Amino acid sequence: MTCRQLFKRLSEFLDGELSADVCAHIRAHLEECAPCRAFLRTLEATVRLCDQLPAAPLPDEIRRDVRERLRAEWRRRFACAEDSA
Ligand SMILES: [Zn+2]
Repeated sequence: MTCRQLFKRLSEFLDGELSADVCAHIRAHLEECAPCRAFLRTLEATVRLCDQLPAAPLPDEIRRDVRERLRAEWRRRFACAEDSA
């Protein structure tokens, strides 16, 4: 599994939506890849913060915006690691 493949599935991974098989691939990659671990921690922290927000859920517009920003940041940081594994 490459960093890009992991990134595509990370939110599903956090939401527990993936099969045990795919989760095992993701965990194996995370053990070997510090940038992906750092990214996972960031994403988990973001999810936690969102969960702590009181009352209304995040509007879809903002949720999409955050997701796009995370993707852009990921591409900027790890462009050299894309699909090279
Ligand atoms: Zn990685």
